Amino acid sequence: MSQHLQSQHSIEKPSECPGCGYFDTGKFCSNCGSIIQNYKINFDYILNNIFEWEDKVTYTTIQLIKRPVTFLKGYMEGNRLRTFIPFKYLFFCFGLFCFVNQIFSLHDLYSDPIDVYIKQTNVYKNDLVFENIINTFGKFFVLLFIPFYIISTKIFFPRSTYNLAERATAVTYMLGMLMMIQVVLGLITALFHPFYFIKPFIVFGIQFYIIFILSFRFFKASLFEAVWKSVLSFLCIMVLFKGTLSGLDGLISLFY
Ligand SMILES: [Zn+2]
Repeated sequence: MSQHLQSQHSIEKPSECPGCGYFDTGKFCSNCGSIIQNYKINFDYILNNIFEWEDKVTYTTIQLIKRPVTFLKGYMEGNRLRTFIPFKYLFFCFGLFCFVNQIFSLHDLYSDPIDVYIKQTNVYKNDLVFENIINTFGKFFVLLFIPFYIISTKIFFPRSTYNLAERATAVTYMLGMLMMIQVVLGLITALFHPFYFIKPFIVFGIQFYIIFILSFRFFKASLFEAVWKSVLSFLCIMVLFKGTLSGLDGLISLFY
């Protein structure tokens, strides 16, 4: 195969790369990676792009569910062709998650109108501001899971050889996978409303599973160590969340 390609290359005339001006043969520029042949945009190209997106998201999600740590290690060792960079994957899943929540109004499926009225007439202004912020930006708070998790791994796995960017990569992919599962759970809730009350337990369980599997297989702790470190990591993350929220509440009451 490679011999065949090489013989093809030697006959081929080099063409100028549209990206950087380098002359090269083959499909891609070896200097910057741009496509140097057949780069015209047509319907085929657009369709291929869409299917490539879909393929990458599906592939990444399935791998993260079936063999998360093998996938993460493969990605870190350079096997990156069939997947997005972690933040692209997370933001795609996060966008889909927000979209599903929005169109089915999943967040206020069970809010009692009288309750809401009492709240609105009795609270202080700073409480209202705080609630407004939570309602508007609450979904984004989940992204704090990434720095909080990294802090907890600094405490519980201080001697691991993984650097901060690698830890961030691992937890970002896992959070994206969690978002994707929440999209499915959201769709189930839209079809079957009482599932609303079961959903938080499933999400809680998966969050714990993520922390556990990373401790056990990614950081290679023993089973016993992985269990107690996961419980403490989980508590540490909860405390950081709680602290952030009360910090925000305190900050708002200073200004309103
Ligand atoms: Zn180039």
